[in-house]
Amino acid sequence: MSGTLYVVPTPIGNLGDISKRMADTLALADFIAAEDTRVTVKLLNHLGLRKPMTPYHRHNQDTAGPAILERLQAGESCALVTDAGTPAISDPGEDLVALCAGAGVPVCAIPGPCALSTALSVAGLPTARFTFEGFLPQNKKNRRARLDALRGEERTMVFYEAPHKLAATLEELAQVLGEDRRAVLCRELTKLHEEILRATLGELAETFRQREPRGEFVLVVDGSDPVQEEAGDPQAALERVAALREQGCSLKQAAAQAAEEFGLKRRDLYEMALGKR
Ligand code: SAM
Repeated sequence: MSGTLYVVPTPIGNLGDISKRMADTLALADFIAAEDTRVTVKLLNHLGLRKPMTPYHRHNQDTAGPAILERLQAGESCALVTDAGTPAISDPGEDLVALCAGAGVPVCAIPGPCALSTALSVAGLPTARFTFEGFLPQNKKNRRARLDALRGEERTMVFYEAPHKLAATLEELAQVLGEDRRAVLCRELTKLHEEILRATLGELAETFRQREPRGEFVLVVDGSDPVQEEAGDPQAALERVAALREQGCSLKQAAAQAAEEFGLKRRDLYEMALGKR
């Protein structure tokens, strides 16, 4: 019978965030697949654990992945960890999870620290719908294409950024999404010098023209305002009536709702939908 692949998050700065379940899983696993064994050994020392480790990172995953799968299929259990935070989130792991899941090996996630959810939960920007953008592409053309695709994005956006690129990224985002766009910059989350800067993209860009960015950063940016349907546009209102009808509304209900949304008279829209006008 196959062993289980455990996906184990580790602290993003504060060792107090180690959970009992995370420590128990590391203790029970037969071996640990680590992004950098030199980093993980420090965590194991802190927990008083000694464990066999094997490296698993973006430069060896094509060979290390199948080797780990083979051990799992032979019955060993494996804890997958990265240097900090949740594996597979802008970190190695996604391919190993897919490989194991595809081969029918059980995969079990241990919930824990993640810079994305930590930043989002403290930002105070809408969280009902958000998009995780991770690191923007480094290649100029791909980067520009990604930024252009975000112009009309209405959901809250979350970016990871390295300190030496932060100032340039803030400038670019201010240019593309607008200087006045609300944003929250989360620095050194869970650490001694944690800092949450709530401002606009323009203000943040200005701040980091003057100040050298140090530490780790997550940037949370408000979505753009929803595009308002042009008031009184009968064609758009008729399309809305059709959409509401497809959702199960009667013609009368659909015409009443669409008329209100588009600032038209109920009866006019009802008659237009009936083809009388
Ligand atoms: N898998 C990790 C996670 O889920 O938290 C993220 C790994 S990614 C390689 C590293 C990036 O995460 C950093 O460049 C930064 O954007 C963000 N990050 C990690 N720890 C952070 C912290 N304590 N404060 C702010 N950002 C952090």
